[in-house]
Amino acid sequence: MSSLINDKCINCGVCLPVCPTGSITSGARTYVVDSDTCTDCLLCAPVCPVEAFVNPLVPPRPKVKTKKK
Ligand code: SF4
Ligand code: SF4
Repeated sequence: MSSLINDKCINCGVCLPVCPTGSITSGARTYVVDSDTCTDCLLCAPVCPVEAFVNPLVPPRPKVKTKKK
């Protein structure tokens, strides 16, 4: 397994220094994760301003329904 960066990535570079294994690099179109070295630590996901990180171990965030009182 490994985290992935999808095409929402805006190449801001914020995630780069966060990765403890140096698995994130700037790719041709978006930043990319090296699946061989990524340890699924998930430190990268919270810093991304556009939620471009996807990890197969983490289900998508459920939509929260708000009820009017
Ligand atoms: S999950 Fe951890 S090791 Fe993998 S790319 Fe993100 S910060 Fe790096
Ligand atoms: S923080 Fe998100 S938008 Fe910025 S480079 Fe990383 S994956 Fe792309």
